Amino acid sequence: MSTHIHTETKRCLQCKTAPCESGCPVNTPIKEAIRLAKENKLYEAGELLFNNNPLSVITGLICPHEDFCEGHCVFNAKNNSINIGAIEHYISEYYINKISFEPKIDKTKKVAIVGSGPAGLTVAIILARKGYDITIFESHDKIGGILRFGIPEFRLPKKIIDRYQELLFQLGVKIRPNTIVGPVISINDLFRDNYKAVFIATGVWRPRKLDVEGESLGNVFYAIDYLRNPENHHLGERVSVIGGGNVALDVARTAIRKGAKEVVLFYRRSEKDMPSSQHEIDYAKMDGVQFEFYRAPKKITDSCVYFIKTQVDSDNNLIEIPGTEICYDADSVIISVSQKPQRNIVDSLESNDQIKLNKFGLITIDNTGKTSMEGVFASGDVVSGAKTVVEAVASAKIAANTIDEYVKSQE
Ligand SMILES: Cc1cc2nc3c(=O)[nH]c(=O)nc-3n(C[C@H](O)[C@H](O)[C@H](O)COP(=O)(O)OP(=O)(O)OC[C@H]3O[C@@H](n4cnc5c(N)ncnc54)[C@H](O)[C@@H]3O)c2cc1C
Repeated sequence: MSTHIHTETKRCLQCKTAPCESGCPVNTPIKEAIRLAKENKLYEAGELLFNNNPLSVITGLICPHEDFCEGHCVFNAKNNSINIGAIEHYISEYYINKISFEPKIDKTKKVAIVGSGPAGLTVAIILARKGYDITIFESHDKIGGILRFGIPEFRLPKKIIDRYQELLFQLGVKIRPNTIVGPVISINDLFRDNYKAVFIATGVWRPRKLDVEGESLGNVFYAIDYLRNPENHHLGERVSVIGGGNVALDVARTAIRKGAKEVVLFYRRSEKDMPSSQHEIDYAKMDGVQFEFYRAPKKITDSCVYFIKTQVDSDNNLIEIPGTEICYDADSVIISVSQKPQRNIVDSLESNDQIKLNKFGLITIDNTGKTSMEGVFASGDVVSGAKTVVEAVASAKIAANTIDEYVKSQE
């Protein structure tokens, strides 16, 4: 155990009520895991965490811990929370590199999983371990969803996702990469081919537009497209990033690492209004990202972006200040103002209404993960909108349980 982790586990008071656990969307049993680790039972600690959340090695690294476990730690009052994420990651990494699985597949219990992000991976692991014959359909060439094609390597090493692929193959899970469910293979095809249930975990991959002049120019990119393969984008020296969330920060920090000389992030409100985590803002500053606040984009050209100054009124409404437009030089512009779901699955159905969507285009489910279409379940960002990995895992666990009950009830 490294000195740091060792020290952190010793600081844990083993609180009776464990507010860190109730503050976590998957109620990570970290108190017991820490107790086991302190007794040198690291494998048992890892097993406990993995059984509760198969992606604990990932959430330990990239959860917004300040909002969840660490934000609820009793030491948080003194700004000195135990570094729970690091402990979770340390234990889970040890465990995930030790385990191996033997397949125990019942070929009569086929389940199709569409999308291999955190939600799809969680359901695949839970159901495969129960003996289900799982096939994952993934539109990218590799599994992982945002874990692989969004979150940069410097925050989440891809070898962790590769390890999940090994474990899935050990469990007998089949993966069809480069396969979009919708345009070619439809949900009805899946039921024709004896899948007993279909789980949709397709996330939100359609960039939201700014709807300003110049958005279609060759020097303009959307964050989710850029992060997929930054090396394929020629940004030049000066990059403007528009947006204030964690995704915008990932874009800015990636652009700097890929050689941009000057990266400026523009946000229409103040720093404290940014929806991103404070520690991500601090890292971006440390990396050399510059910030311009109270700026709203009006027009993009081949060499600059026109921003108008903004302010907030007494009701916190954003107001543009007339006559304050300034053109900021930029070789390229990356727009990062959120994502919404694609429609290719719903559009491929005979009636758009078979899988009901809400007004934002997100799939509507009941509180057990059932969609309005018989045998079809969903969770993760495609249901909740852009959230977090741990929340995708939490909702996927519920859906996995519902799918298990559903398939058994059909036997
Ligand atoms: C850049 C970025 C950074 C983030 N950083 C963090 C972070 O640090 N911490 C955190 O907790 N959360 C973070 N998030 C949010 C988190 O990654 C998501 O909430 C989470 O990945 C959602 O999981 P999901 O399984 O629902 O969807 P996704 O991860 O989006 O996976 C969906 C998968 O479905 C596939 N797919 C889509 N349509 C089809 C189709 N028709 N057929 C087949 N496959 C399809 C996609 O290719 C993708 O692989 C970040 C998000 C982004 C964009």
